Amino acid sequence: MSIDEKTIREQMVVICRRLYDKDIVPANGGNASVRLDSGEVLVSPTGQALADAKPDWFVKVDLQGNKLAGELEPSCETPTHTFIYRKRPDVRGIIHGHPPFATGMALAGERFGPPSHPEAFVYVGEVAWIDYATPAELAERLAECVHKHDAFLLGNHGALTLGASLKQAHFCMESLEMHARALTLARIWGGAKPLPQQAIEQLKHLRRKLKNR
Ligand SMILES: [Zn+2]
Repeated sequence: MSIDEKTIREQMVVICRRLYDKDIVPANGGNASVRLDSGEVLVSPTGQALADAKPDWFVKVDLQGNKLAGELEPSCETPTHTFIYRKRPDVRGIIHGHPPFATGMALAGERFGPPSHPEAFVYVGEVAWIDYATPAELAERLAECVHKHDAFLLGNHGALTLGASLKQAHFCMESLEMHARALTLARIWGGAKPLPQQAIEQLKHLRRKLKNR
């Protein structure tokens, strides 16, 4: 194992535990992966709670999802992760979770609507809606929109976020859940109001700068 890979595995542990602590991946739900410089992918194992993540616990697979190394078996959603890495050379980290407020929206068929929160828009962008799909069907459903979005609400299921690093995918996921929670609470006050169009243009510019960093 190279030093770089060792460091990445340690960073994955920290982020997996944060995801669990933030209720984004309750019980043994959810999964996370990183694409290494070699092009190989480290993915969380199936059937395990991300709260229990350890550096040697992540399974190494190739871009087709074939297992290369690791004692455990890769997440059953590995084909979705490797599909995204094949389609998006810019993506180095992926997180799938069941955060309660975003998942509530996914169960109700509720969309995020026009941009209404500045940071959420900068870190998440426009959230794409994906109709319910089994793990085997999900890659096919993502094919049409995976080039245009970094965040997806999975109908009757949960959420999926991408980033140039696992840290970026993590910020995207936490920001998405913050926005889902805020939108839910805003309903008490009559619903979220969209940001002014001029602000959206400025925030789009900021988002492009952030993504190109
Ligand atoms: Zn799931």
